[in-house]
Amino acid sequence: MKPIHTLDLLYHDLAGAAASHLIVTDDGPVLVEAGPMVTLPTLREQLLIHDVDPTSIVAVILTHIHLDHAGAAGWFADRGADVFVHPFGARHLVEPVKLNASARRIYGDELDTLFGELHACPADRVHEVADGETVSIGGIDFTAIETPGHARHHHAWMLDLDGLRQCFTGDVAGMRIPGSSFPTLPLAPPEFDRDAWVASIDRLDALDVDRLHLTHFGHVDDPSRHLARVRDRVIRESDFVARLLADEHLDLASRRTAYRHWLEEDAAGENIPEARFRAFVNNGLLDMNFGGVARWRGARRA
Ligand SMILES: [Zn+2]
Repeated sequence: MKPIHTLDLLYHDLAGAAASHLIVTDDGPVLVEAGPMVTLPTLREQLLIHDVDPTSIVAVILTHIHLDHAGAAGWFADRGADVFVHPFGARHLVEPVKLNASARRIYGDELDTLFGELHACPADRVHEVADGETVSIGGIDFTAIETPGHARHHHAWMLDLDGLRQCFTGDVAGMRIPGSSFPTLPLAPPEFDRDAWVASIDRLDALDVDRLHLTHFGHVDDPSRHLARVRDRVIRESDFVARLLADEHLDLASRRTAYRHWLEEDAAGENIPEARFRAFVNNGLLDMNFGGVARWRGARRA
């Protein structure tokens, strides 16, 4: 049996906010997602707890190259790990100057505490994987499922393990507030695309997967129900946010209040403690989604 270990990166000191996944294969340990640079020390500790030398990672499989998924991949690549990624993401891993500069424009000095810059990967360690292609490591086949919508260069990764069809979903199956089944959605700029996202969810649902692994956070054993909920929310939430943005009488503070209240109503019955809800439905998430929806609407008008 080869279990999938969900390593909690304790991102921003929050349990259940961001994960890296560890599978110890016959050819060595593999990570799915590397997390951001700011949580690399935690990831290394977690690996040691699982008796894995961080320098012995043979492969890092990425769903996409956003900083909270791929930021630390280069550290492992520097030590010999092969990195597998969507073809659109590969060049940014090798040459992250533009990506880091654009993150710096958005976050300013906060970038260093929020994510840290993406650590460059040596070119000969980065491998482009196209839709439907399989990466075989230690007898385990990871198949790339192109799933745009949150980002254009997004793959989910499917594998059969322990008699279960399992899938690492990155951000395409949304996020989940720990201890609940309530999804939150990263409608992130600059590539949020609702139609693409809905099509990606339908594609995942059709694969008849037994278990999803969300990077944010943990596994889901009722994939169809979860995916149906995320699908519905992607549509309703982007519509709601678009309406908030269109209302010129609202300033940022009142938009945030209205958005948080809307999500609270949607989460009624989930019994999420107020403090936890606030920690996960934070201004960073709300503001990111304002940016993503505004950009998506603008692109549709153009
Ligand atoms: Zn992302």
